[in-house]
Amino acid sequence: MAMPSHAKYLIIGAGIHGLSTAWHLAAQLEAKGLGGGKDVLVIDKGGIAAGASGIACGVVRNNYYQPAMRELMAHCVEVWESDPKAFSYHPVGYMQISPEPMHADVATIYEQQKAIGYDSTFIEGEKDSMAYMKGLFHDWQAKGITSVLHEKKGGFANNTASIYGLAKKAEDLGVRILTGAKVTGFQYGHNSEAVTAVVTDRGVIECDQVVVGVGPWVNQIWNMLELPKEVAIKGPDGKLHKGIPMWRYWCLEEGTLGVDPDLQKTNDGGPPPVIHVDTDAPLHSDVDGSLITDEMWGIYYKPDLNFGGIQGGAMPYVVETPVDQVAVDPYGPDSPDFIVGDDFAHMWCSALAFCQKRFEGQIKHYKMNEPSGGLGCFTPDSFPVFDRFRENVYVIADSNHGYKMIGVGKLVAQELINGESALLKPFRFSRYAEGKLHPTSHSPFPWS
Ligand SMILES: Cc1cc2nc3c(=O)[nH]c(=O)nc-3n(C[C@H](O)[C@H](O)[C@H](O)COP(=O)(O)OP(=O)(O)OC[C@H]3O[C@@H](n4cnc5c(N)ncnc54)[C@H](O)[C@@H]3O)c2cc1C
Repeated sequence: MAMPSHAKYLIIGAGIHGLSTAWHLAAQLEAKGLGGGKDVLVIDKGGIAAGASGIACGVVRNNYYQPAMRELMAHCVEVWESDPKAFSYHPVGYMQISPEPMHADVATIYEQQKAIGYDSTFIEGEKDSMAYMKGLFHDWQAKGITSVLHEKKGGFANNTASIYGLAKKAEDLGVRILTGAKVTGFQYGHNSEAVTAVVTDRGVIECDQVVVGVGPWVNQIWNMLELPKEVAIKGPDGKLHKGIPMWRYWCLEEGTLGVDPDLQKTNDGGPPPVIHVDTDAPLHSDVDGSLITDEMWGIYYKPDLNFGGIQGGAMPYVVETPVDQVAVDPYGPDSPDFIVGDDFAHMWCSALAFCQKRFEGQIKHYKMNEPSGGLGCFTPDSFPVFDRFRENVYVIADSNHGYKMIGVGKLVAQELINGESALLKPFRFSRYAEGKLHPTSHSPFPWS
């Protein structure tokens, strides 16, 4: 594609957010008689699905302790359900299987799911939880479980296929997608803060509105936009805590057990829901019985033809390197630093065996020769920031919650054309200074 010199809407990033925004902007501009896809340009330094969206495990769930996240996810699930084929979406459901310290949190989630009409079943008590799980998987054996939340909606989607599905929807409406063009800076107006042009390694593109959907690279673009590197957060104590870094990296640990995906069928031979287990029961090695951890831990897994086996992950870890020095590129499986190693394989496969007898002794099938895992860039409270900066720059920073958030682009498009979205409002940057923080749960994951 020839290098354009101007775009009304210039979107940086061809991942889930950039492409969903592009598709919906095109549709909504056309519906309102304000233009259409020809006004929307997506640019990416790599290609379509070159970032986190292209390597995501692909889990789609509603299970969030924060009411605003749940409502937003219910909206996103509707978008997934709008075209499962195009999005390679498998609505098999999702299960949050939890220990006693999380019982009350998950009970709240269930109550609020009922309130918003999101179909789920909640089982309480150790005996009933075990019976429910054995009703699905005869070999269930996880210990320390006192509640099971079974979401009947949600499930998973195939990462790259879904992003190409989104790209096609956008392109069908006339959106242009320019790949291999890296944003290296911005030009600003003389009398305003607004961006007048985006500088790339292939030339300058003037624009009226910028949308940033760059996933793990958000810190780089944030710096180019000269936005604050630190924030002040008003805590529950009413005090302003200053000097909190705006961004930090976590490394997500995921992998695949290279067995027949059909190994993980339900008792009736059907496709199983995505399983997420957290527990405070000690985890022992499936190889030699040694103690792996006696602290709260968690894993998730699903059979996946795309990955070729049972695919899933465990808790991520914090990257201690100062944020500006973290080597985001090469990204994902190409990174020499941020891929999983033997420790992950040992822990995750032992945890699978802890949950279901069918996984005992299967660690030998773990796909060590296929690098996996990747970086995520997190906000100070690990929840998304969806907001406008510099008058005409809309930043979509999902704090790594985001593959499932296919519907955020629809709401961003609405905000760009029509004004505020109630679903996005709780995710403004100003919440830090105002102390309007989301409640936190007892989950061992930073994004629950
Ligand atoms: C291993 C892993 C597993 C995950 N699993 C899940 C999951 O199961 N469910 C879930 O909901 N979320 C999951 N996530 C999180 C999710 O993948 C991300 O939150 C989401 O994909 C971010 O989407 P995005 O569109 O913002 O960014 P990305 O998909 O990362 O896309 C950003 C794009 O921006 C481009 N870009 C970056 N910098 C520039 C620049 N300077 N100029 C031009 N282009 C640029 C990149 O090339 C890239 O293509 C996972 C994340 C990881 C790392």
